[in-house]
Amino acid sequence: MDSKAFNPFRMAQEQFDKVADILNLDQGTRELLRNPMREYHFSIPVRMDDGTTKVFKGFRVQHNDARGPAKGGIRFHPHETIDTVKALSTWMTWKCSVVDIPLGGSKGGVICDPHNLSLREQEQICRGWVRQIAYNIGPLRDIPAPDVMTNGQHMLWMLDEYETIHGKKFPGFITGKPVGMGGSLGRTEATGYGVVFTIREALRELAINPAETTASVQGFGNVAQYAIELYTQMGGKVICVACWDQKEQKAFSFKKETGVNLEELRSATDRFGGIDLVKAQKLGYEILDGEAWISQEVDILIPAAMENQIRKDNVNSINTKVKIIAEGANGPTTPEADVVIQKNGIFMIPDFLANAGGVTCSYFEQVQCNMNYYWEKDEVLSKLDIKMTSAFLDVSRLAQTKNIYMRDAAYIIAINRVAQACKDRGWV
Ligand code: GLU
Repeated sequence: MDSKAFNPFRMAQEQFDKVADILNLDQGTRELLRNPMREYHFSIPVRMDDGTTKVFKGFRVQHNDARGPAKGGIRFHPHETIDTVKALSTWMTWKCSVVDIPLGGSKGGVICDPHNLSLREQEQICRGWVRQIAYNIGPLRDIPAPDVMTNGQHMLWMLDEYETIHGKKFPGFITGKPVGMGGSLGRTEATGYGVVFTIREALRELAINPAETTASVQGFGNVAQYAIELYTQMGGKVICVACWDQKEQKAFSFKKETGVNLEELRSATDRFGGIDLVKAQKLGYEILDGEAWISQEVDILIPAAMENQIRKDNVNSINTKVKIIAEGANGPTTPEADVVIQKNGIFMIPDFLANAGGVTCSYFEQVQCNMNYYWEKDEVLSKLDIKMTSAFLDVSRLAQTKNIYMRDAAYIIAINRVAQACKDRGWV
């Protein structure tokens, strides 16, 4: 695998260019939309627990805010790069657009590994990140949220720092906050559940009973766990879960033909949140190579970990039985692999549609913050279902009528809306 040569921003641009051609977009709009509008790089000095000072590198990229304030998470990752953040901010623009919420796209990141940082050090990174960007983000400008390796506690530290700097309460400055501290019920579940809402609709179109299906999942973070939860409740059976092992610094797949039990697997996690090899083995899981999840004989594949996971070199190991790929992660499939998946007639539910449940619920969180009135969980989840289902139906109808790939159909809808907003504002 050539992950060194992989550049997610180039991939995002390649996907955009393909659809810009189909849409025959004018030169100005193309130039505007294939690049982020604003990009911030900064240093975050942190006094470490041992008394030394370490300087972390932070980013915030605002891709486009024609449809409303920019919106997107913040990742903590040791291999974070500006090009990854640029790609992710671009995908956020398309994500908010395809589900038709009045927000643009952005993303942030810090190059760091929370596994090796104390909570105090993590708090300092969060506060330091906000201090560097406090006048360029805000509830009416750009709203952060959790992403890979960040959670509600990180969001709350960031909120506290932002409110301290500005001397006012701004509960809508950030989303993914803990419930009771301005967070929304259902936000934790939203991304994973949203993935399953789209799977349910795809199965309906294919006239397949969910209770007769099996799935293989890559990842065991927030998205993967709640996708497993709802899919299992729908009657489906997950037979394989792949997960990164922090101690071994490699991934493993955990297989159980009779079906993965989410609670059981949760009880087998190590202190990093990964699945412990010894505990899993004791629970009867077969331990396979990290890539094994992709070649399982299942109906549905759910890549819900990181970008660049289904590539030219492994796309052909996808079992011929697979009917649906639902991308819980951002950018898991490369354009080269897409060609093969499309040729093989697999129903692709592309990332910025499949995993839009998180940001949709973030939007609900902001609405609740603005009203200072919080909804019941059922209300949040049923509103989420309505939004996700109607977005899915718009995309699949277009894919069917024009006989095009689902990713292209989703892009056509999303890019058209953003291009129109730029035009209406007189930008292009
Ligand atoms: N980080 C999530 C995503 O990639 C959620 C973003 C948000 O809620 O703003 O969609």
